[in-house]
Order: sequence, then structure tokens, then C-alpha cells
Amino acid sequence: MARKSRTKTPISEQAPEIRKTNFEEVCLGYTIEEGQAEAERCLQCKNAPCIASCPVMIDIPGFILAIKEGNMQEAADVLGKYTNLPAICGRVCPQEKQCEEVCKLGKAKNFEPVAIGKLERLVADWALENQDFSKNTSNDRAIIGKIAVIGSGPSGLTVAGDLAKLNYEVTIYEALHDAGGVLTYGIPEFRLPKRIVKKEIESIEALGVKIETNVVVGKTITMDEIMEEFDACYISVGAGAPNFMGIPGTSLNGVYSSSEYLTRINLMHSYEFPKYDTPIKKSQNVVVIGGGNVAMDAARSAKRMGAENVSIVYRRSLEELPARIEEYHHSVEEEIDYHWLTNPIEYVSNGSGELTGVKCIKMELGEPDASGRRRPIPIKGSEFIIEADTVIEAIGQGSNKVLLSTFPELALTKWGYIEADPKTGETSIPGVFAGGDIVTGAATVILAMGAGKVAAVQMDKYVQEQKKIPATTKV
Ligand code: FAD
Ligand code: SF4
Repeated sequence: MARKSRTKTPISEQAPEIRKTNFEEVCLGYTIEEGQAEAERCLQCKNAPCIASCPVMIDIPGFILAIKEGNMQEAADVLGKYTNLPAICGRVCPQEKQCEEVCKLGKAKNFEPVAIGKLERLVADWALENQDFSKNTSNDRAIIGKIAVIGSGPSGLTVAGDLAKLNYEVTIYEALHDAGGVLTYGIPEFRLPKRIVKKEIESIEALGVKIETNVVVGKTITMDEIMEEFDACYISVGAGAPNFMGIPGTSLNGVYSSSEYLTRINLMHSYEFPKYDTPIKKSQNVVVIGGGNVAMDAARSAKRMGAENVSIVYRRSLEELPARIEEYHHSVEEEIDYHWLTNPIEYVSNGSGELTGVKCIKMELGEPDASGRRRPIPIKGSEFIIEADTVIEAIGQGSNKVLLSTFPELALTKWGYIEADPKTGETSIPGVFAGGDIVTGAATVILAMGAGKVAAVQMDKYVQEQKKIPATTKV
């Protein structure tokens, strides 16, 4: 241990004063030499705890050893056995709460854990540059069955990739004009460049997966038609319907949901106006409500769109902030201000429908609530106004009813999500599987992928049983 560096190998980032004016990626990634230096820090533990805390059980010491030995192809092959989207996960997974949290090196006094996420990103980016994905599939494979996947987010892409590898003909139906789900329309370019998302999607298409965009299942085609044509289907439509505070003034001009604000920027490229003819309101004073990754993304995007003052209003304190700590630090460096222990109670206007401010009240923390976090309680008489011409509410999302309302046979939970067995992805209807945010509620990319992996195995079993053919290989 004595010869291991105590801290993670530093990684290059765009300087805050430059990056807050552009949408290019903040983190520039390791060079291979830097990656090898970081790989040297791994203890190559037996029964490595990092593997068990990864929702898709990546052989982390295995791919890190290959980096250390300078064998990037081997590292990419190891990763490829467990994940179809490593360049995405390397960038957006909350590693600090998963593999890195339990890393044995990080448990030693004054040692930081191995930078597992950044190493995953290094290998994945290398593979995207150097591997020929067109060789992923052969045309003469014997097709076992036909699978429909509804929704092209990380859960749908994962199930599709895994089933294509098992020789299924897979078609993904996507409502929007671009595939990727939140990876494409939600997470901004400066955290997850769309060229990376596109390349990883292309690598899944190269496995033989067909993606049909602009198809809203429930409207363009029905679930009955899908169940008629396919041997099994997987519903992964996410949780994209925004929640609202529902306070007075919500209908004023200048009040956005984070879904709308970020979709206009990411999917419709409003930050590239006039190259793309879809501008967004120019704002001076922006207030974002919420404390998760979505709030960070909205605030940092508003700054990059030219807003002078951007602040986040959060009803608890820094200690309870659900956003990734790295994103919080980045936001502070980019001069995003915070109003801790504060809640909005009304949006204020100039009398002609335009937003001019947010009336807030200060909060204090009381006893823990059902989530175990201390409940915020309003402090009487502490109201104040924050000047604002734009408000972005980022207080969570719920299930989208477009498909569900046309498929009443499917059992839902009391919160309106699909009831599915977490160990198999099976729903109340034979042959219909589900996973990702539409089952768990808004969660993470890697959990959505994990659900896809579990369901792929079970869907294979299901189709084989229906067709009475012997079970195949593992994914
Ligand atoms: P989604 O990614 O939501 O994809 C669902 C897809 O289904 C969408 O493309 C949608 O258009 C499509 N669809 C919906 N209805 C239909 C229909 N009727 N017919 C056809 N298609 C349909 N997680 C992290 O791990 N790290 C992060 O840093 C992070 N940041 C985030 C930032 C933002 C702004 C948001 C919104 C979420 C973030 N998350 C993050 C959460 C993560 O992105 C989600 O948990 C994950 O994308 C869920 O994947 P999914 O496949 O279940 O659904
Ligand atoms: Fe390496 Fe940490 Fe995993 Fe051990 S726990 S194998 S040190 S990454």
C-alpha cells in the first residue's frame, strides 16, 4: 500500500470560467498513460467488493488489470461482457455511491478510492475510436424469435442489445425523433456528449437491433398489434411526465418544467440557434427549484445559455442534497448560487402574465420523515422574494400515461408505475416484461440497465419455453 498514490490521478477539465460559456464536455478524460497510472492503484482484491456493488456486476479488477498491462482491447472485451453502454456509464453513473464507495483502497486511512468510473470511460472511449462495430453481428444467424422493445432509453437499449446477442430479431419503438431517452433529451451535452450516445446506440444497432423512431406506442401502433406480431415485448417508457409544485402563478410566462427546458436545449438544440431554428427564451435571472441531478443540469444549462444570475432553491440543506457531489462542486465553480432551507410558495408577476419573481419561505429541519431525512418545516414570517424572469421546476417526474392508458389490463402500483418482478421483469401479462424508471420511478441509468439485463435472460427463457426449444447460452 505504501507505494500506492493516496489520491486519484488528476483528470483534465475545462476551466470553470471558460466552460460556463459553452456546452462542450466539462471533463476531458484520462490519457492512456494517466489511466495506467490510476490502474496501478487498484489492489486487485480477491472477492472484490466493487463488483458486488455494481448493478451489472462488471469485473472491475479484470478490466483495470488489462489497462495496467496496456491491453486496451482486452479491457474493452471484459467491459463488453457486462455492459452495452460503458462510455455512458463511465460518465454519468453515481460511482461514488456504488463501486467507489466500497473500494478497499478508499477504505484505507487518507486514501481515495480507485477512479473506477473514469477508467471505464477511458476504455469505452478507446473502443469507440478503435473497434469496428460492424463486425458485431453475422447475417446468417438463426433467429430464435421476435422481440419488441418500447422506449429507447438505457433500459430498452440494454435489453435489446442482450437479446440481439442471443439471436433474437429486436425492434425498438421510440416516440421521439431520436433514440436514447433521457441520455439524449435530458442529460446535457456538457456532461454526456450526444456523439458518445449516438456511437453507443450505433454499436447496439450493429448487433442487428432495429430502431423505429417517431412511433408512439398506444397511438401510432397499439399494444394488441405488438403482442400479435412479436413473441414477447419489453416496456421501458421511462418516467418522463413532470411533477409541478402547483403553487399560484405556475401558468405565468417564464415558468418551465425541467423536462421542457432541457428537452428544448438538448433534443431541439436551442443552444445552437440559429443553426437549429428552435430558440429558447433569453433569461437574466433564473431560479431552479429542486436539489437533484436534474436541477443541477437545468441550472448549469441556464448559465451556459447566458443568464447572469442562476440560483437553486432547495428546501433541505447541503447534507441532504440528492445530486451527485461532483455535479454540485461543478455548479459552485460555475457560479450557481444556492438558497438552502428555502421553499417557493408563489410565482409573482408584473400584472401582464410575465414572471418577475419567486416568493419563498425559509425552512428549518424537524424530525425525520418516512425517507429517513429530516422533514423541512416553514418558518412563519420568513417570506422573501427572489427576482426572476425564468423559473425551472425540477422536483421529480412521474409515469407517462400515453401507453398505460391504452393498456388497462396491465397491473400498476399505487404510484402509477408498472408492477413488475424485479428479479425477472415479468408483469401481470405473460410475455410482457417491463423495467427501468417506468417500474422503479425516476432512478439511475445503471439501475435501468440492470433491469434490462435481468429481463433479457427471462425473456429468452420465456420465448424458448413457448417455442419448446432447449435453453441457450448466457448473455
Ligand atoms: P428513459 O431514459 O426515460 O427512456 C424512455 C424512452 O421511452 C424515452 O425515449 C421516451 O421517449 C420513450 N417513450 C415513452 N413513451 C413511449 C411510447 N408510448 N412509445 C414509444 N416510446 C415511448 N441517472 C444517472 O445514473 N446519472 C445521472 O447523472 C443522471 N442524470 C439525469 C439528468 C436528467 C436531466 C434526468 C431527467 C435524469 C437523469 N438520470 C441520471 C436518470 C436516468 O437518466 C434515468 O433513470 C434513466 O434514463 C431511465 O432509463 P429508462 O430506459 O427507464 O427510461
Ligand atoms: Fe480495485 Fe478497489 Fe475493486 Fe479492490 S475494491 S479490486 S482496489 S477497484
